[in-house]
Amino acid sequence: MSLLVVGSVAFDAIETPFGKVDRTLGGAATYFSVAASFFTQVNLVGVVGDDFTKKDEAIFKGRRIDIRGLERAEGKTFFWAGRYGIDPNDRITLATELNVFSSFQPRLPELFRKSRHIFLANIDPTLQKSVLEQVHGEPHLVGLDTMNYWIEKTPTELREILRHTHVLMINDAETRMLANEHNLLRAARHIFSLGPRTLVIKRGEHGALMVHKDWVFAVPALPLEEVHDPTGAGDSFGGGFMGYLASVPSVTDTALRRAMVYGSVMGSFAVERFGLERLRKVTRRDINARARHFAALTQFRL
Ligand code: AMP
Repeated sequence: MSLLVVGSVAFDAIETPFGKVDRTLGGAATYFSVAASFFTQVNLVGVVGDDFTKKDEAIFKGRRIDIRGLERAEGKTFFWAGRYGIDPNDRITLATELNVFSSFQPRLPELFRKSRHIFLANIDPTLQKSVLEQVHGEPHLVGLDTMNYWIEKTPTELREILRHTHVLMINDAETRMLANEHNLLRAARHIFSLGPRTLVIKRGEHGALMVHKDWVFAVPALPLEEVHDPTGAGDSFGGGFMGYLASVPSVTDTALRRAMVYGSVMGSFAVERFGLERLRKVTRRDINARARHFAALTQFRL
């Protein structure tokens, strides 16, 4: 089984109360692929500029990540800068320089077109749609992320791609904005009427909530002593979540709940160090140990 992801590969500048980096490899598709590659083969589609070197590419090497869909364009790689306060959920975007991303037209290598599991990371809904159009046959599972910008600026295009989405993974503010409803359960019900059958609400240090037609499931964020950089937590969550689901024969309710835990496990690693520093050193053993830690954290008797 393989998992197709399309999204940003970027250089990030990050400031948190624990330090600052001027330029580190990041991007939604990067965090997602690294996290998902522990569970399944990942096929990455994105674009980088001529400033993206062999050294940068090394993050994908030795992992189950096929980068034949990573286009190299003339110009600079997408650049994002952000600052966090003491509350890790409190993020200010200081700069978004699209660079080569502004003229990006995803092109799926022939080999990727048979993908059955697809994750459309946060990019223009029109591009998300063009990826789905290039896939042959009916996918098993389509996961999607988006942000306030697309909810406000391209509501029609977003609604169109939502019709083809199974799992929508967004944060609580985005859920409220998309549904125009403050109550998350009522918002979820509205979102189901747009297409998705499962909504995963990422709540940063408050964990994640999964709303399904007939049930709700919650996983807390792992209490950690070291939270150095929240960047990429959501995408690493997505990678663990989708990667796990791509590795099992079918998307049952039990599998969805486990996927929530594996997503949370990968998100918890991502935040422990700056950029991809911690995630790149994670082992399968670390993942299993942390999943058991989540089980212990949430176990109780009635
Ligand atoms: P997360 O912290 O999981 O929400 O995602 C952080 C990553 O998203 C960073 O590495 C950024 O490079 C990337 N990013 C930030 N803004 C955008 C955007 N507008 N489009 C695509 N990717 C973005």
